[in-house]
Amino acid sequence: MIIEGIEFELTRKNIKYLRLTIREGKVRVSAPLLASEKEIFAFIHKKMHLIKKHINSCSGMARFEKRYVEGERFQLWGKDYTLRLKLGHAANACLLSGNEIILCLKSDNIEIKKKLVKQMYLEQLREKAQEYLRRWQSVTGLESDSLRIRDMKSRWGSCNIPKKDICLNLKLACFEELCLSYVTLHELLHLKERGHNKRFYALLWRYMPEWQKARQTLNGRA
Ligand SMILES: [Zn+2]
Repeated sequence: MIIEGIEFELTRKNIKYLRLTIREGKVRVSAPLLASEKEIFAFIHKKMHLIKKHINSCSGMARFEKRYVEGERFQLWGKDYTLRLKLGHAANACLLSGNEIILCLKSDNIEIKKKLVKQMYLEQLREKAQEYLRRWQSVTGLESDSLRIRDMKSRWGSCNIPKKDICLNLKLACFEELCLSYVTLHELLHLKERGHNKRFYALLWRYMPEWQKARQTLNGRA
């Protein structure tokens, strides 16, 4: 069935409660054998906001599947780079030059290429993320205790409030810096407002009037 343009796969099972799973953009609803259609629709409607959010973030992430071949396009801070492979080098390295990402390699091995590019993105992101975090900390007066970077599948950032730990998605380095700035601010603000409530958005508007532009870019709708 399709609701609001989203395809749902419904299965009846011998279970007590309605269940929903989303994997690789596919939404599956498991319903108890005797659940009425009305109950199922009500359940889906209640979850619609979350479902849409998840699907958008996944289609955004799908853009990052790479093959690591000569001439392939990569994005770094919103700019296009072309991958160049240079084989037969004594040591493996990843260099940025002009609008090229140059991989110097002993041999053509996808795992090594992946690792080198990931390392480069990690270094790029770590440096800039620390800058933005310092900046937003001094503007908002909020303090996080630690900053981590991970290659996450479905979120751009997260904040562990008790630990004051902010985690950012490695792929933020692909987008213009406004996106990194926005996610850093967003997660930092959770130290003051746990939920996405009115007060949370009021703070976002106050510190970053252009935050919606960043969110649209990240959700793949810009
Ligand atoms: Zn949030």
